[in-house]
Amino acid sequence: MKIKSFLVFSLLFVMTGFAMAQTYSIIIKGGHVIDPKNKIDGVMDLAVRDGKIALVSKNIDAKEAKQVIDATNMYVTPGIIDMHVHVFNGTKYEQALMNGQSSVAPDEFSFRAGVTTFVDAGSSGWRGFPDFKKQTIDLAQTRVLAFLNIVGEGMRGGPFEQNIKDMEARKAAEFARKYPAQIVGIKLAHYVGHEWAPTDSAVEAGKLADIPVMIDFGGSTPPLSIEELFMKHLRPGDIFTHCYAYWPATREAPVDENGKVKPFIPEAQKRGIIFDVGHGGGSFFWSQAIPSIQQGFVADVISSDLHTGSMNSGMKDMANLMSKFLNMGLSIQDVILRSTWNPAKVIHRPELGNLSVGAEADVAVFSLRKGNFGFLDITGVKLKGTQKLEAELTLRAGKIVWDLNGIAANAEIK
Ligand SMILES: [Zn+2]
Repeated sequence: MKIKSFLVFSLLFVMTGFAMAQTYSIIIKGGHVIDPKNKIDGVMDLAVRDGKIALVSKNIDAKEAKQVIDATNMYVTPGIIDMHVHVFNGTKYEQALMNGQSSVAPDEFSFRAGVTTFVDAGSSGWRGFPDFKKQTIDLAQTRVLAFLNIVGEGMRGGPFEQNIKDMEARKAAEFARKYPAQIVGIKLAHYVGHEWAPTDSAVEAGKLADIPVMIDFGGSTPPLSIEELFMKHLRPGDIFTHCYAYWPATREAPVDENGKVKPFIPEAQKRGIIFDVGHGGGSFFWSQAIPSIQQGFVADVISSDLHTGSMNSGMKDMANLMSKFLNMGLSIQDVILRSTWNPAKVIHRPELGNLSVGAEADVAVFSLRKGNFGFLDITGVKLKGTQKLEAELTLRAGKIVWDLNGIAANAEIK
């Protein structure tokens, strides 16, 4: 008898243990889940266990979770990927975005806008990368990935970014291969000469390391042909950033003087050239974006080009930037696609930007505010709008890292 009751007790213990192992750490209940990769678009619950997505389904039993968060009337999406930012913040005051004061510290600006992954767009070249990794990437809670600048000195400004001798494809590719967990692409920016060598060198590095390149087409007077760039120099999967910029004296724009999208633009997009917003402090004009979208030329990726110059002007943050696209007529599903699954594919990280079971639980919860809002471009022109996304809650690897109004609070003052 004694042995029998011991066995029953053991069995009960094992079963209870099993049941406890089934418990979710968090269930987000009743939100409208948008997960473009998995074609989920409807009211669902989302369960998290061990920092991973455990289940997305209707009516998950609240009793199965340690914590239940009510997301009724909110949108639940994959954590936002901001594919173009500058987060190599540091103390080198003369170095601008490269370990300097124009870059921002990642955790200060990510989660509060629903962002869980930042991709630094070339602040660092190979020379600065070990410091960037040590002082920013390895310490941030935000996942920080990087396009490595083709310029060894990175974005130090001035003559450094004009030095073709410092654009070594082999060296950049060598670093990309050495740090595959962090380096997802190669960046060229700010070059003002007329040679194609910097572009070709970046593409060569991209080929050697089998990663995409992102081109900020600098400024050359008269401008170089972007048709030639898209059709002859870039590969399918390579990225043209600042796609709604308008600096006609130095850089050709996708939209002509009459507001018409140039005929080779849809062809380039069909060829696989990726168009990235990269709003920044000088690269987003309503005069480009509105007619582009009306004529069906929509950027593949919505990104902020976050730095101290953009965050306090028209760009502000990703939630504000995504709201601009809502108010230009894109659906919320389309806006989420272009800020989650699309950038994940572009940087060859298909494990990110989605809510598949087993994926790291990077999740954003947004309210969509209705009211009278104003949105500025970089020229100070305002677009009036009626809807605005606000990041309510952000989870990074299953951990609550942002909770604007306490929807995940553990108690409440009565
Ligand atoms: Zn940038």
